[in-house]
Amino acid sequence: MIRVTENLRKIRDLLAKAAADAGRDPQTVRLLAVSKKQPLDRINEAIAAGQRHFGENQVQEGIEKVTKIDDPRLTWHFIGHLQTNKTRTVAEHFAWVHSVDRLKIARRLSEQRPEELPDLNICIQVNVDEEASKSGATIAETVDLARAIAELPRLKLRGLMCLPAIRHGFEQQRLPFRRLRGLADDLRANGMPVDTLSMGMTDDYRAAIFEGSTIVRIGTAVFGARTE
Ligand SMILES: *Cc1c(COP(=O)(O)O)cnc(C)c1O
Repeated sequence: MIRVTENLRKIRDLLAKAAADAGRDPQTVRLLAVSKKQPLDRINEAIAAGQRHFGENQVQEGIEKVTKIDDPRLTWHFIGHLQTNKTRTVAEHFAWVHSVDRLKIARRLSEQRPEELPDLNICIQVNVDEEASKSGATIAETVDLARAIAELPRLKLRGLMCLPAIRHGFEQQRLPFRRLRGLADDLRANGMPVDTLSMGMTDDYRAAIFEGSTIVRIGTAVFGARTE
């Protein structure tokens, strides 16, 4: 039996403790509950326990949950790889996209975001470790990409996201997050007032919070192991 309510209480305490240890206000770290591959009853339990932000990484599965649960109190974040032929449904159903890594995707989201909805919140996913196998903008191209996205209507550039290679040990885990934070500083120095660092998951949230994370994306610690 997975007890989502109990898990949520524990992880909220741990996040608040990490923030306090880092000398930060715990209110500045948002918990995004990553509900991918989780059944609806676990998500409903999280909602009953007060969780409001949820993340999905597959378009089809995500849309199904957004429309089935259909709760106006919730904010849905798309965090997965996005192909050009899927941008429209994401633009129509999500409030945030964390995984924009090229201008073509951003242009389509901008064109396809329904006028009656608020601006779509955007984070650029950065391939901080420059891994060939991973999606994400390179560090070198991020400032120019951000500048172009900031110009697009119906999008609001909020900041940066990363999904670093697995590292062991707190100090090692901090390195890629520090790189992302430095890049966000570069954006601000270039006149883009970004306020979001989407970084940290179940195994490395503490290192991410020490480097300034404002959204931690936590799946396993909230919902238990995913059903494949
Ligand atoms: C699955 C996923 C997470 C959550 O991972 P956990 O290790 O279960 O916390 C966070 N971010 C992205 C982009 C994911 O795909």
